[in-house]
Amino acid sequence: MSDAKVERVYCPVCLAKFKYSEGWSEGSVVVCPICGERLTLRKTADGWIGDRVDRGTEKEIRSRIDGFAEIRGYVFNDVKEDIVEGLLGKYKRFGDFYCPCRMEHVPEYQCPCKPTRGGDVEKNGKCHCGLFWKKA
Ligand SMILES: [Zn+2]
Repeated sequence: MSDAKVERVYCPVCLAKFKYSEGWSEGSVVVCPICGERLTLRKTADGWIGDRVDRGTEKEIRSRIDGFAEIRGYVFNDVKEDIVEGLLGKYKRFGDFYCPCRMEHVPEYQCPCKPTRGGDVEKNGKCHCGLFWKKA
C-alpha cells in the first residue's frame, strides 16, 4: 500500500506545516522543526494539528526558544533572562509571546519571529533582539 499524499502537521505558533514523521500518533509530543515549539498531535477533519504544550507559561516559551536554538545551532548570552522576562510581559499584556523589541503584536512577530525563522541570525550574527546568536 502506498499513499503518495504527504501528511503534514499544522503549527499554531509559526502558522506553517511540517512533515509528519512515521511512528507519530495522536497524543505524541513533537517539536516543531521550524520554531521549536513542543506540540501534542491531534487529528482533525482537516488533518493533523499540534496543540501547544504548557501554553502561556514560562515553561512553554523557555522550551520553545531552547528548542529553536538547538535546532539551528544558536547560542544565548546574558541578555536571555531579560528577554524571557519581556516575552512573559508581552504574553500578559497582549496575549502571546510577541517579540519584546517590537511594537507590533502580530503573528509574524511571535518569538522566534518570522525574520529569525527566515535566517536573520545567519545574515546579521544575531536576531533583532539579540536573543539568538550565531556561534562564534
Ligand atoms: Zn512552529
